[in-house]
Amino acid sequence: MTTLPDLMFDLETLGTGNDPVILSIGAVHFDITTGTLGETFYRNITQASCFARGLSVDASTIEWWMHEDRAEARRALHDPEQVTLFAALHDFTAFAAGARSAWSHMGSDEGWLASAYRAIATPHPWGKYIPMDIRTASKLAGLSPKSKDMPNREGTYHNALDDAITQARYVMGIPNA
Ligand SMILES: [Mg+2]
Repeated sequence: MTTLPDLMFDLETLGTGNDPVILSIGAVHFDITTGTLGETFYRNITQASCFARGLSVDASTIEWWMHEDRAEARRALHDPEQVTLFAALHDFTAFAAGARSAWSHMGSDEGWLASAYRAIATPHPWGKYIPMDIRTASKLAGLSPKSKDMPNREGTYHNALDDAITQARYVMGIPNA
């Protein structure tokens, strides 16, 4: 399978500040010019490995995760295949290699990813021309920048891979994105 050129990623975290514990990384390759989805990436990360690297937790985010609506998404916390932050990010670097764009909610997830790479003293997987923001593209197309307004939801809200796939489908549907 050839790797498609664009990348969408989504992080689930235990905080909304500058350096949150990363619970999960979900990503999918896609081709924005042809509207095709490709290979996926999904890792759940041990909280202990994030604490050991100095990442932090917000009480308000823990309360948010405890809400009954997130019971399904919380299953990721009990994934028996959890890996360390170091292993997850090194795998992600390999997955992301060569991407011509890396889409996310850039105001949050791109910065969280950067702080996680700094915490493991490993270079960020792409340079400054690669990150693309879903909300900016939405706004320029006259669409709602709110995630909850995205059509064609895949799977579970706040599952990082389901969110990434939903977001990739969404940006492929934005005119001229
Ligand atoms: Mg998400």
